[in-house]
Amino acid sequence: MTHCYICGSGITGDHYRRNVSTGHSSGVSGGFSSTSLRLSERTYTGVRTVCQSCAEQLDAQGDIQPWMLIVAIAIVAIPFLWFALHSLKY
Ligand SMILES: [Zn+2]
Repeated sequence: MTHCYICGSGITGDHYRRNVSTGHSSGVSGGFSSTSLRLSERTYTGVRTVCQSCAEQLDAQGDIQPWMLIVAIAIVAIPFLWFALHSLKY
């Protein structure tokens, strides 16, 4: 039996293949004596077999809905518009 990569339960029904985060590493490369000192962070991803419920959760996380963009633009734009209108009076 195949097991879900995320929740570990046995998959009896359909198998779903999803690109999931498989690991995360962060560290300092270059050494303290080097001038090329920098902090490196990377997240590793790979395609793994998951169950239906985990696949649905991943799909929900990955989708950016159009209304989310409109809300985000409005949150940024409203203070600018308010300031522009306010400054015109003087
Ligand atoms: Zn699962």
